[in-house]
Amino acid sequence: MQKWKCDQCGYTFDAYADKLPKNCPSCGQKCTFLNVTCYIPECEMPKGPGFDPRIGGKD
Ligand SMILES: [Zn+2]
Repeated sequence: MQKWKCDQCGYTFDAYADKLPKNCPSCGQKCTFLNVTCYIPECEMPKGPGFDPRIGGKD
């Protein structure tokens, strides 16, 4: 499960990468969804290469 953000309306939701909706659940447009999994404070994923500590996350 990963965290996604609609680039149109900013709506965020959880989904598996291979089961992303074609249309945004919020605005209904065919949006580009940005993977923001490790860019939220609740992120529990391990900090991989390229992780920016300024963004936040759990230690
Ligand atoms: Zn949207």
